Amino acid sequence: MTFSRRDFVKTSVLGAVAAGVGAHSAIPEALAETGQQGHASLADSPKHPIILSANNGYAYVEAAYAFLKGGGDTLDAAIRVVKGPEDDPKDDSVGLGGLPNEEGVVELDACCMHGPTRRAGSVGGVRNIKNVSMVAKAVMEHTGHVMLVGEGAERFAVAMGHARENLLTERSRKIWLLWKESNSDRDWWGPGTADPHWHPPAPESKPQAGVWQERIEHLQQSAADLGIEPEFQLAAVRRVLFPPSGTIHCSALNEKGEMSGITTTSGLAFKLPGRCGDSPIIGAGCYTDQDVGSAGATGAGEENIKVAGAHTIVENMRHGMSPQEAGTDALKRIVRNYNGDMTKLRYMDMTYYILRKDGAYAGVCLWEGYSAGHPHKFAVHDGTLRSEPATPLLKGYSQDWPPMPVVPEDLRKDSEYLK
Ligand code: ASP
Repeated sequence: MTFSRRDFVKTSVLGAVAAGVGAHSAIPEALAETGQQGHASLADSPKHPIILSANNGYAYVEAAYAFLKGGGDTLDAAIRVVKGPEDDPKDDSVGLGGLPNEEGVVELDACCMHGPTRRAGSVGGVRNIKNVSMVAKAVMEHTGHVMLVGEGAERFAVAMGHARENLLTERSRKIWLLWKESNSDRDWWGPGTADPHWHPPAPESKPQAGVWQERIEHLQQSAADLGIEPEFQLAAVRRVLFPPSGTIHCSALNEKGEMSGITTTSGLAFKLPGRCGDSPIIGAGCYTDQDVGSAGATGAGEENIKVAGAHTIVENMRHGMSPQEAGTDALKRIVRNYNGDMTKLRYMDMTYYILRKDGAYAGVCLWEGYSAGHPHKFAVHDGTLRSEPATPLLKGYSQDWPPMPVVPEDLRKDSEYLK
């Protein structure tokens, strides 16, 4: 007779129950050990439902809040927020119209946690399907797995009724092409020497400001040649010089104290094919524990994975920290990973969105923003919808990657992305 692992588990549990040891009898002790009953605030229910979102979800929070208030599920409410940017071809950080990988292919990541049922779902590196937030939820609801990636995730999404579509909008394709053509003067992309406008790279000795000026003018001309609308050309140049990232996280809490979280993204622009950041990683891009709270992240995915940011924050709250303290501690872990070396830390940024079970919330960030007048913000609704600035750990502004000696202020100011 063969005896599978599943049979073994079943038999052990039944054996324990029959012996009066019941698997459940161990639970109260386990709860006590993890401190889940320790803090009065964690036992409290919120006074109102609350939705906390990255600021690019602002326009969708009001409707999601009405849905939540009307008794809608917390994860469904959060998905209503993030689906907005996923469907919006002009938001080039998420879903349809997201900036593609280095080969010009849009690859999306998402993960979610449903507090009331303590379940999770995640997808990574998904092509051709725009609403990966819903696919992550479907993994949670329709499979025995937690995470699907790549082609398997795409096939699963189609099986769940999602339409395959080309996610690369004309605008994002042109930005990618501009990046590709200007990326290097050592490959065959971009007009060659036969082009009347071709000229050899500027000599090294030229003053820095002149090199910038020339480079920007050249890129703007190429953007025009590629048919990018005049009012978007400078923003396109900016995306090429400093490949952006962008994401949306949303956590929702109802009056009963139930909560859920979701994070969805197209990840880092022009990334290597197959790269997954923190957004599909349960515990990094998103983490929800029904006993404690929910947290999510936008920013440097590689750094956030190394500190398991969202999970660290929820655990910190479990042990008594306020949302702000919990988030600040996670940010300090990122700083610690670089031994506080500001010459490196200035090239990364991170924002955490934190919601505790009793309704206390915070937004914290590594740097104040990308430039003066553009602080990191988050959207919150607890009966009134508003945008609030996140609290920075470090004074000053992050610098773009790749490192450049001087970033002209003009270029910093431009860009819808920063608004
Ligand atoms: N965290 C995302 C990623 O690394 C990008 C972002 O939030 O800006 O893919």
